[in-house]
Amino acid sequence: MTWRQRLSARLASQREAGLWRTRLTMTPAPGSRVRDFASNDYLGLARDPRLAEAQAEGGRRFGAGAGASHLVSGHLLPHQLLEERLAELTGRPRALLFSTGYMANFGTLQALCDRQTHLFQDRLNHASLLDGARLAGARSRRYHHGDLADLERLLSRAEAGPRLVVSDGVFSMDGDVADIDGLASTCARHDAWLMIDDAHGLGVLGEHGDGCVGRRFPAERVPVLVGTLGKALGTAGAFVAGDDLLIDTLIQFARPYIYTTAQPPGVAMATLRALDLLETEPERRRRLHEHLDHFRARAKALGLPLLPSPTPIQPLLLGDSARVMRWSLALREAGFMVGAIRPPTVPQGQGRLRITLSGGHRRADIDELLERLAELLAADPEPLP
Ligand SMILES: *Cc1c(COP(=O)(O)O)cnc(C)c1O
Repeated sequence: MTWRQRLSARLASQREAGLWRTRLTMTPAPGSRVRDFASNDYLGLARDPRLAEAQAEGGRRFGAGAGASHLVSGHLLPHQLLEERLAELTGRPRALLFSTGYMANFGTLQALCDRQTHLFQDRLNHASLLDGARLAGARSRRYHHGDLADLERLLSRAEAGPRLVVSDGVFSMDGDVADIDGLASTCARHDAWLMIDDAHGLGVLGEHGDGCVGRRFPAERVPVLVGTLGKALGTAGAFVAGDDLLIDTLIQFARPYIYTTAQPPGVAMATLRALDLLETEPERRRRLHEHLDHFRARAKALGLPLLPSPTPIQPLLLGDSARVMRWSLALREAGFMVGAIRPPTVPQGQGRLRITLSGGHRRADIDELLERLAELLAADPEPLP
């Protein structure tokens, strides 16, 4: 087979399976009204003009790009200040900035693990954690979602060797929150380290927006904490927080940290501004949680198939992929963006609309979305799963 034939055949089977992925070109204006219920911009910060201004100021003072990797000459003052602020927010001695969350997970797993390491992952962990385990070449086992007894069983059967348990803090397709206390206690009993990826919890959960781990669980209980900056904080990039031993290990050995250009300094400046707003405008978080309570109560009353999620990720379980596409298209025509999630991102038969709420939404838009959903439910000929 030629290259052209190989690729054409793969693309054809993707299309036939109903899994074709497409992109939309969006043109949001800064400060514009959001009817986007698909983004991870949980506090409505991504389009806040003050962040754009901080980013521009960073560009003027430090350059549009960092010019080099952190270990060469690209570690600029805004990067350093941001690391200090992130360590403070999460209650850890240090934090290390990465260009994306995908790379933070890759680099951490690769730097910590080798063939001797036993890795235990929640079945529903983010793709970057599952892929990172492969890069690390570690022996990887997956326990049933959120099932501490299953994890306990796997840990007690494991042979000698370093053990690392890895979990999302908030699961990105279900919106449920990991039992951090239970995971930390299980790890302590088996002499394992715990790594939590709090991509969707940071900025949203915790009294200070410090996430589902944050200051309540010190580095002794959760030694490896990953957070991302492209979600609630509205910018881009990610970090790993922990003690000196962890951060020094990452700086020395994490290849996805060492061999890449540092993020543009303006992005770090915008994130610093976002962290200011997290502190000075707690009403953003409060509004988000009010929206959440309202949405869940109304959706329940309407008979919509909600999952038990206490976070801004509010999936509606529709089952069939064709129905997921039908509903999401109808919503788009009504002016609403929602995520259409199908296998292989979720298991077969568990297609869903991934609706995300934001402190930047208006109550009237949420109500109109609920109305459209109720109409779709009433008009759908097939029973829900
Ligand atoms: C989004 C996400 C990532 C990746 O973060 P990026 O900065 O977008 O690369 C990692 N882990 C989880 C759980 C995520 O949801």
